[in-house]
Amino acid sequence: MPDHPLPPRIPQVAVDLCRACRRCPAREVCRSKALRAIDPGEPPWVDGNRCYGCLACVPLCPFGAIQVSPPEVPL
Ligand code: SF4
Ligand code: SF4
Repeated sequence: MPDHPLPPRIPQVAVDLCRACRRCPAREVCRSKALRAIDPGEPPWVDGNRCYGCLACVPLCPFGAIQVSPPEVPL
């Protein structure tokens, strides 16, 4: 195990791509309920306090709205 493991990669919802679907498969797969939505007509967002970076949600959005930045390479 490395001395300094990389922090979890927290995805984000690209609101310009999200269609605020009635049924969001990305939300359904999240085991920690980190993809949150209050208004069903609004895009969900990722609650960084709940997300543990499993990235299971990323491929499940059919519109590519859930995105994750490349890992930062330690100097
Ligand atoms: S994240 Fe993807 S699947 Fe979920 S509401 Fe937005 S567009 Fe639809
Ligand atoms: S990365 Fe995992 S824990 Fe975080 S929002 Fe996606 S499915 Fe949930």
